[in-house]
Amino acid sequence: MSRFLAKRLSSIEPYTPGEQPQGRSFIKLNTNESPYPPAPAVCAALNSEEAERLRLYSDPDLRELTAAIAEYHGVLPSQVFCSNGSDEALTFAFLAWGSQDGVAFPDISYGFYPVFAQYYGIDALPIALKPDFTLDPKDYMGLGRMVVFANPNAPTGFAIGVDEIRKIACSNPDHVVLVDEAYVDFGAESALRLLDECENLVVVRTFSKSRQMAGARLGYAIASPQLIEDLNRLKFSFNPYNVNRLTSLAGTLSVREDAWFCECRQKIINTRAATTKGLRQLGFEVLESLANFVFARTPQLSGEEYCAKLRQNGILVRHFTNPRIADYVRITIGTDEEMQTLLAVTCTILQEAKG
Ligand SMILES: *Cc1c(COP(=O)(O)O)cnc(C)c1O
Repeated sequence: MSRFLAKRLSSIEPYTPGEQPQGRSFIKLNTNESPYPPAPAVCAALNSEEAERLRLYSDPDLRELTAAIAEYHGVLPSQVFCSNGSDEALTFAFLAWGSQDGVAFPDISYGFYPVFAQYYGIDALPIALKPDFTLDPKDYMGLGRMVVFANPNAPTGFAIGVDEIRKIACSNPDHVVLVDEAYVDFGAESALRLLDECENLVVVRTFSKSRQMAGARLGYAIASPQLIEDLNRLKFSFNPYNVNRLTSLAGTLSVREDAWFCECRQKIINTRAATTKGLRQLGFEVLESLANFVFARTPQLSGEEYCAKLRQNGILVRHFTNPRIADYVRITIGTDEEMQTLLAVTCTILQEAKG
């Protein structure tokens, strides 16, 4: 840190992303990326002709992409805001709707929420998940501040239903309730159908997980046209060209190619079931996940030990230091072959641990 950094910023604890290894090749199950490539139309379109167009700025209104996403979800283009990863939509959301009265979010959830709050000096209220890691909607009623939660939640993989989301939104009529649906495509109910009823609801999605495009950095928010105007006000005060040309094209083609999306998603769901079963047979406790990862622990090793042993064997998974979840590891669902390797390696690690 330099002596020039503003005092206010010296206390921020930045988000720690999962390891992106360079060189040595790992089976990478640590950052919830997809093991499958983007849609074939996306891969085919990113050619040298498109690269040459990089001399031009991207469309600041992202009209084609916005229209494609709107059509896909059956909403108006004025209800869609596209962002540089969903992280960007989330930062704008925190600033726009949380900086006046504060923000509440679960104590165990996406690690970026408390960082966004610190970044803007927003008052943050972490709300403890129940001992079994489920979220009690009653804890989010009438809070008098913005509410943010991931559904399904990370790293637990648990989700609440649309009726419960409705109750949370209705009980906080003067504040935004933001549902981060980064993992919703892997089996949970989307809150999108509440949009007409709940004028304070914002749904955030990403292309990083279920659309195999983490490296493209593309996300979006869906809400009322008025709320979307708020996000555009911030974007046009910060970075009008927030989504680059190649990503914008890739995103447009991805949402138009539904068959590939459905096929990859279904493979992940099937592999998740097999992985859950396999880990349980090895004595793991595995939470019933609706996401593209499982959260699991073994009585034989701490989360940190298991994580380290897997790494020695060329497999990366994610471990968190928060004491409430220190026993657990979060394992991204890869291909069937990758998960079979994980199970085989795990079997050996457990045998060695027994001595
Ligand atoms: C991965 C993730 C995001 C961030 O996604 P990007 O679009 O890659 O920025 C947001 N929320 C949750 C809960 C996530 O797990």
